[in-house]
Amino acid sequence: MQREEAVDENIEKFEFQSEAKQVLELMIHSVYSNPDIFLRELISNASDAIDKLRIEGLRDDRLSGLAKDGKITVTVDRESRTITVSDNGIGMSRDELVSYLGTIAKSGTKEFVRAVQEAATSGNADLIGQFGIGFYSSFIVADKVTVLTKRAAGDEAWMWDSSGDGTYTVEPCERDAYGTDVVLHVKERPDDADGEAEGAKDYLTGWTVREVIKRYSDFVSYPIYVDDTGKEKKEGAKPEPVNSMKALWVRPESEVTEDEYKDFYRHVTHDWDDPMERIVYKAEGTTEFHALLYVPSRPPVDLFYREGRHGIQLYIRRVFIMNDCRDLIPEYLRFVKGVVDSEDLSLNVSRELLQQDRRTAMIKNSVTRKVLDVLKKMRDDRLDDFRKFWTLFGVVLKEGIISDPKNREALMKLCLLETSDGGRVSLDEYVSSMKPGQKDIFYLSGGTSETLSASPKLEAFRKRGVPVLLLSDPVDELWVPTAGKFADHDFVSISSEDVEIPGEDESQDRESAKKAEESGIASKLKEAVSKLGGSASGIEDVRLSSRLVDSPATFVQKGEPVSLQMKRLFKSLGQEIPSDKRVLEINPSHPLIEKIAQKSDEIDSDGLKEWAVLLIGLASIADGEPVENSKEFTKTLACLLEKA
Ligand code: ADP
Repeated sequence: MQREEAVDENIEKFEFQSEAKQVLELMIHSVYSNPDIFLRELISNASDAIDKLRIEGLRDDRLSGLAKDGKITVTVDRESRTITVSDNGIGMSRDELVSYLGTIAKSGTKEFVRAVQEAATSGNADLIGQFGIGFYSSFIVADKVTVLTKRAAGDEAWMWDSSGDGTYTVEPCERDAYGTDVVLHVKERPDDADGEAEGAKDYLTGWTVREVIKRYSDFVSYPIYVDDTGKEKKEGAKPEPVNSMKALWVRPESEVTEDEYKDFYRHVTHDWDDPMERIVYKAEGTTEFHALLYVPSRPPVDLFYREGRHGIQLYIRRVFIMNDCRDLIPEYLRFVKGVVDSEDLSLNVSRELLQQDRRTAMIKNSVTRKVLDVLKKMRDDRLDDFRKFWTLFGVVLKEGIISDPKNREALMKLCLLETSDGGRVSLDEYVSSMKPGQKDIFYLSGGTSETLSASPKLEAFRKRGVPVLLLSDPVDELWVPTAGKFADHDFVSISSEDVEIPGEDESQDRESAKKAEESGIASKLKEAVSKLGGSASGIEDVRLSSRLVDSPATFVQKGEPVSLQMKRLFKSLGQEIPSDKRVLEINPSHPLIEKIAQKSDEIDSDGLKEWAVLLIGLASIADGEPVENSKEFTKTLACLLEKA
């Protein structure tokens, strides 16, 4: 934002950050199919502000107890054409006002802008109505917005003012108590003039405002009052909140509508898509709690940031305690959003006390089991939905196989893994489709899905109809060795040197294998390899292969692979990363190898070195890896072609 000097020295004028400008433009000019959402967004902000005051009150004595009487008031003034949403929450300091209401921190904004633009050009206005974009949605109905605010325990009050034209002003003002008023100067409706209101709602009546609040914000846990200034009030009548404040999560599922659940999801997550899955759960017994949890239909942008907003909201006996509580749900379920409301925990719990309380661990266990049960049910009953879930969150779920031994089995059963046949299978399906005599679960890892599926190591497995799991997520290289086995079947990497391929392949060319053996080509090449420099690093042996069908050569692993963690460890210590010990396997039935074998007696040691360089290069390329000494490789290749 840019600051400009204004005429009155108390008034500072600023320019909106460019993304904020874009959103504002859209708010002002788009035809919103559902303008009601502005009120939902402002009430949500007001409720968040009271939550924040409660949270800060736990740490700061000056603020403790202030949020006890949190309330929200919506004042409708037909005369001055204003709707004011007031709260007694945390309020904003001058700097906060400038940074929160002049910029857009939300990471989904770009996506939002794009979606709205698309919706506008395709004429699909309905789509626009689903989105909420917080404070800026005020400009759907207002042509000028004024914010008056005072930070709790602060001395100064500030006024923010904008007509949505790219700039806003900030100046000191008067406000007795802490909290915030957002004053919307409501636009004239296009039909106001001729009085034939069609479609467009008149928000300047208490009735409409009440209806909108009831519809979208009924569950908000602070009372919302509507003050209809134009209306006469009965003497001594006590104002009644418009919202029931009934916590959705304690109501029986049958009494809550789908829309109420969806609105609550938006309230908690600020995500404008509908959730993929809802989990309503009541735990009874040693520890009692209610949970209302959601699986989003797209991954939150901060899914892989350690500092991201992970965790769920904690309530204790219907009182909001904290956001993003990480102690109630394991890391690998960090995409789950929602609320846990405990009956047993003490109201003045802090994050530290919470960590030490054994009831916290009990809630976490119980929540974890419930979420995994729901996912299992989804897999059993709605496989298509589960597949979608898996493509979005499977990679996160796999972390649990490493970190949560108690649920390892359950998590492994949920995995949908790619196979060399194409498609994805569960481990149970893999096991039940194993070939007679097959004891192990074969897998190939350490590449992209494409390079793995093109690997020459799969050739003999494919030929004999033995499926191999293709594990292309980096986390696969950690969980597979950690788990070691599934249902008594070992995981065996098909790139290890001594893998036994089940079944016989009658078509295997024994004749050429015998000839190759007699020629001693493998040991001759081994000798040549040992005389090579860099490009042959880590190659300990050259052998005749039984796993190749169409390719001339491949590399296999000798002994234990150097794990990713080890490599990272060496890297972080600034040491040279130990290279894997490899064996170059050559295919005795391949015409190229046959030819070299036949002529091996005539080829001198320099000639053998050239063939070794070529085969090492070909094996690297086939394995989807870079050729280590590409200059030497291309030179040799050109030279051999020339001779041919
Ligand atoms: P969001 O609420 O999704 O973060 P908004 O654009 O609605 O985005 O609001 C931006 C920020 O402005 C909020 O995160 C909050 O810090 C601040 N804010 C908005 N309304 C209020 C309010 N009534 N009281 C205190 N702070 C508020």
